[in-house]
Amino acid sequence: MDYSAVDGWHQPRVVPYQPLELDPSAMVFHYGQSVFEGLKAYRSADGNILLFRPEENFRRLNESCDRLCIPQVNEEAMLEYLKELVKLDKDWVPSEVGTSLYIRPFIISTEPTLDVSPARAYTLMIILSPVGSFYKGGIDPVGIFVEDEYTRSAPGGTGYAKTAGNYSGAYKAQERASTHGKAQVLWLDGVEKKYIEEVGSMNVFFKINGEIHTPALSGSILDGITRKSVIELLESNGMNVRQRQISMDELIAANEAGSLQEVFGTGTAAVISPVGRLEYKGQDYVINGSEMGETARWLHETLVGIQTGEQEDPFGWTIVLET
Ligand code: PMP
Repeated sequence: MDYSAVDGWHQPRVVPYQPLELDPSAMVFHYGQSVFEGLKAYRSADGNILLFRPEENFRRLNESCDRLCIPQVNEEAMLEYLKELVKLDKDWVPSEVGTSLYIRPFIISTEPTLDVSPARAYTLMIILSPVGSFYKGGIDPVGIFVEDEYTRSAPGGTGYAKTAGNYSGAYKAQERASTHGKAQVLWLDGVEKKYIEEVGSMNVFFKINGEIHTPALSGSILDGITRKSVIELLESNGMNVRQRQISMDELIAANEAGSLQEVFGTGTAAVISPVGRLEYKGQDYVINGSEMGETARWLHETLVGIQTGEQEDPFGWTIVLET
């Protein structure tokens, strides 16, 4: 689907996956005006196809568009287009446990000019691709590297938007994490490098003395859909989730006192990813004996159960496609 100043968003169409033809001066190549989303379609045991909270992705897409000066999309229309597209590709939704059809909607600025200003032409695309299980050999707690040199986002920046530059700007830290043998980066705030923000592609939760804590949405972290679902799930089961500022010093002190019981990340790819080790300022801290904790395990089972139709969905999160 394309956007022009005259026609607005127009000409939705389905085409085979193929290379794009773009002008070398298409603005996205130079100024990175692009936003994207990621969600999944799951195959239930009885053969149905389920989408998990797709309206939340289009709501967030529009928030990212707003931050990047990209014209808003019609969220209801996008949801209908997506349903049609997945139905057309229904045979691509795999059925093995843990597999899904990954859905990547994205928008790029296509106007051919080197001017530095919001473009007047855009293309919105949706790529579909079957993906295997995130946890091939069972759920293994990951190690994360607390980044204390580079920052991902600062107040007033683009941290809450799902835009290309946030990810390429993170590569340097990701490289550092992997040279330290860690799978992901844990970002700290962009002012004091003191408070915890999020992991590279996940939001982060802590269980301290039986209570769940997660960094508040400060404008510099992504409003994760898995994060939101985890909070709703925990609260509907009588657990209090404290969304607040959490400092690295507090976390280390809690770990040393034996009260940090669990650390886990949340995101579309892994759903729940337990963290077994944290490296901070040259020191490795082991969390929960590097074992998956009971809360992370329950959340994983429950969320995956709802997403795949194995468990009842009291929240109305899933959309079952009639194929
Ligand atoms: N933070 C970042 C930076 C991410 O890229 C993602 C993945 N979309 C998340 C958090 C988790 O968000 P969600 O639960 O919506 O996948």
